[in-house]
Amino acid sequence: MTTALAPDALLEELLAAGLFLSTGVDGLYGRSAVLEELLERLDGLVSALAAEDGAERLRFPPALPRRTLERSGYLKGFPHLAGTVHAFAGDERDHRELLAALEEGRDWTRCQRPTELALVPAACYPVYPTLAARGPLPAGGGLVDVASWCFRHEPSREPTRLQVFRMRELVRLGTPEEVRAFRAAWLERGRRMVERLALPCTIETAHDPFFGRGGRVMATSQKDQGLKFELLVPILDGAQPTACLSFNYHQDHFGRTFGLRTATGEAAHSACVGFGLERLAIALLRHHGLAPERWPRSVRAVLWS
Ligand code: ATP
Ligand code: ZN
Ligand code: MG
Repeated sequence: MTTALAPDALLEELLAAGLFLSTGVDGLYGRSAVLEELLERLDGLVSALAAEDGAERLRFPPALPRRTLERSGYLKGFPHLAGTVHAFAGDERDHRELLAALEEGRDWTRCQRPTELALVPAACYPVYPTLAARGPLPAGGGLVDVASWCFRHEPSREPTRLQVFRMRELVRLGTPEEVRAFRAAWLERGRRMVERLALPCTIETAHDPFFGRGGRVMATSQKDQGLKFELLVPILDGAQPTACLSFNYHQDHFGRTFGLRTATGEAAHSACVGFGLERLAIALLRHHGLAPERWPRSVRAVLWS
């Protein structure tokens, strides 16, 4: 790593270098051509690693049915992170009031009502109801490759904690054995991928940022059961290393929730491996410098081959 930087200072560096483009809102940035290409290269690297597995490639918009979010259990654990889409639902008089409120700088959102859409919090969420609707999984289970813009309401000056970011995921569905074997294999593959990029990393058991006092119980249980691992890279000085990859075992939570069954009729188990593309890109920029054309040849070869 180069010189010591406060989290906020790394954001300032990325903005000054023109890699991130400010929008005036913390955690919401545009991307330069250089950063965008890097994100695409990282996405391509994941594709190359996953190629031989024959995952089914599915893509969904960055919004999902609000009903899916409600059923998923996300609001139980993370009401503070969820985003819902609202739209105007008034008459002409309400519209005149809205315009007057805007004009006078008052709150104009009185007639905004929830639509049937919510924002995707993790790329894998749309996968479970979609697969469940097809009927039982085939023998051997399923493997899906998915990617999405994701939203989490966690505004921050840490450039690694965005409100809108890109997540690539591989999702394995099947028996407990199939799903656990998948996760074990990707823990190794993920580590090797990050080591080829010459980034220092550790893998640790982790828990999700569950809300409130009840959340502490869920977090402890998740960690004790080893349901979540994170691959961490030191990026921000004076802060804990940053989770760049996550490996989650949901047991049969999504199988039961969405009625997704195995070929033999049991509730399917599932696991996902998630790649935070911006976090990986920022880790590379932090460790190898802000100009990818001057990175070590060995690192460039992994991404530009
Ligand atoms: P953290 O522990 O840092 O809050 P997380 O455990 O909530 O992250 P996951 O829910 O496992 O993260 O999400 C999968 C991946 O998406 C993470 O490994 C990370 O790389 C990325 N990610 C999560 N939250 C953000 C964010 N706010 N900004 C950018 N990337 C993120
Ligand atoms: Zn997932
Ligand atoms: Mg985490």
